[in-house]
Amino acid sequence: MTDTDLRRGEATAAIDPPSDAVLQFIGTIRTPWADRKDCPRQGQLDGPECRIELHPVWHPALMGLEHFERIEVLYWLDQSRRDLLLQSPRDDGRTIGTFALRSPVRPNPIGTSYVRLLRIDAGVLHVRGLDCLDGTPLIDLKPDHCAFTVQAPPKLEGNQAT
Ligand code: SAM
Repeated sequence: MTDTDLRRGEATAAIDPPSDAVLQFIGTIRTPWADRKDCPRQGQLDGPECRIELHPVWHPALMGLEHFERIEVLYWLDQSRRDLLLQSPRDDGRTIGTFALRSPVRPNPIGTSYVRLLRIDAGVLHVRGLDCLDGTPLIDLKPDHCAFTVQAPPKLEGNQAT
């Protein structure tokens, strides 16, 4: 059985082969895991140290991120199949809808993790808390919303502009 074979009770959607959305990958995630079966199901903040290698053109966009202890990482789970409606995570015939799971198998396979930021060296972020394969493409980085301080001025009352 391979990672893309169907399990008992699983169902697929009759969809066209995906033509990927126009995302720009902004870097590559380096982890100790070369095989999906070795990846943790969810990252742990005390998990192994991983590296997020940002493309050099985006290095200036890191300014200020070093102040955050925790950041959110969004990544593209590029080895997932994308047509499952129902999934059987335990392969026991019991099925659950794709949107009721955090499975990597989904129409747009975006993964997110909150990670502990250890340091940033020359555009490389050293973090703990990831759960993806080595070489997984990076979509975005954001400060932990709990720690985020709004810096924009408040909107004027009655001003509908966004
Ligand atoms: N933390 C993310 C989330 O909740 O959105 C991802 C959770 S998902 C359950 C993590 C699993 O995805 C890993 O255990 C591994 O089996 C699988 N995975 C990791 N990297 C992948 C990749 N590049 N392509 C496809 N599957 C991947």
